[in-house]
Amino acid sequence: MAIATINPANGETIKTFEPLKDGEIAAKLDLAQQAFEKYRKTSFSERSHWLQQAATILEQEKADFAQLMTMEMGKPFKAAIAEVEKCALVCRYYAEYAPGFLADVTIKTDANHSFVRYQPLGAILAIMPWNFPFWQVFRFVAPTLMAGNVGLLKHASNVPQCALAIENILSRAGFPVGVFQTLLIGAAKIADLMADERVKAATLTGSEPAGASLASAAGKQIKKTVLELGGSDPFIVLASADLEAAVTNAVTARMLNNGQSCIAAKRFIVEETIADKFEKLLLDKFQSLKVGDPMEPDTDLGPLATPDILQDLHQQVNTAVKSGGKILTGGSPLTHSPGNFYPPTIIVDIPVDSQIAKEEFFGPVALLFRVRDIDAAIKLANDIPFGLGASAWTTNEEEKDRLIQEIEAGAVFINSMVKSDPRLPFGGIKRSGYGRELSIQGIHEFVNVKTVWVR
Ligand code: NDP
Repeated sequence: MAIATINPANGETIKTFEPLKDGEIAAKLDLAQQAFEKYRKTSFSERSHWLQQAATILEQEKADFAQLMTMEMGKPFKAAIAEVEKCALVCRYYAEYAPGFLADVTIKTDANHSFVRYQPLGAILAIMPWNFPFWQVFRFVAPTLMAGNVGLLKHASNVPQCALAIENILSRAGFPVGVFQTLLIGAAKIADLMADERVKAATLTGSEPAGASLASAAGKQIKKTVLELGGSDPFIVLASADLEAAVTNAVTARMLNNGQSCIAAKRFIVEETIADKFEKLLLDKFQSLKVGDPMEPDTDLGPLATPDILQDLHQQVNTAVKSGGKILTGGSPLTHSPGNFYPPTIIVDIPVDSQIAKEEFFGPVALLFRVRDIDAAIKLANDIPFGLGASAWTTNEEEKDRLIQEIEAGAVFINSMVKSDPRLPFGGIKRSGYGRELSIQGIHEFVNVKTVWVR
């Protein structure tokens, strides 16, 4: 895939970039190594100060960064602004809490003093996707740099200007040269990077094939990875739920980021007795969404990030129909402009045991299923290879307990859509990946948990 900025709202190629040559990559790895030797000795207060500065730059220039994101991957401008603000939040969160998360932990044993000390590993490679081009990087950067590691970013090939802007922000914030570097490279270079002794570990957010490929390259070198992959999150609505609130959240949870979010609600599983009502309300709301220029303030749904994403999504919709599904609204690409626009789409009656019912739809397409009761809801929710998040709506306390206990996912949100929050760990099980980002668990992924025993 060429490294280029192509505006998904109109297909215009704005800028292309030459990938780094092997010698240039080697020079950046050298620089990362040298930077680490000094950076690991900096104090928490220095690192916190630089991260707070980064937060200030993000806040002060949020409109510029948001515009860049919208131009490169098409998310609505207002959502892009919120994303930049969230990046500032995660910087401030780790600037404040990382020293506590990484403080020595005393453990009583037969030693005079035994404790755990958290130490940095070195250069950590982040392979990141285009869907939250700032957030995905900052939720990696903030804990990684606070822990004393240095960061290398291989961003998705369609968001190179976001990648360069992030490097620039961290440099202006005061982080020493080489502590965070963007590598403009294609995915084909990843195996070599993992084989290089200067790269100590890696994290990837993206598709299953990309995750599997990184994990096998890292596995050959016995290097740790964290993987945050896809999902087909259930959104369960049971009879006692506040239906208005559930439907409003259902729309937001499906349409977030033009439908291209790993934790978007993708399968709507509704108890039979309220299903007609839910379906009608959802349909009304989907049909009232405004699709169009993502820079316009009243746009709800912008274009998909690339023509390939659009094609893949439409192919899945066709397969769903061939498998027995019926389209209630939407169902074919919009052709009013050269951009990658797909309308809000609802598909019902897909057989639950069909292959397509278990796939991730990465766009504004909702799969709606009716179930007899909570048993059937939980069974269907779990009947997929993924396990990222789940949202469930009920006012019944026993049902809440069962949903929390029995749903196979990295997160269960009751009476709320699934969302990420710097204070809470984030990640999945099954084919959604492993490891955790954010919170105290996130900062402990890329450190040496050193056991110390002293007599
Ligand atoms: P990819 O997984 O291909 O891209 C994500 C990142 O991984 C990019 O930086 C990409 O680089 C890199 N990459 C791609 N192939 C490899 C590889 N073999 N080894 C190492 N790194 C690799 O996602 P796509 O953009 O192609 O999207 C396809 C699907 O992935 C979506 O439809 C969705 O299902 C899922 N996805 C999930 C995301 C999530 O948040 N969990 C985010 C994005 C996508 P490059 O851009 O250069 O190819």
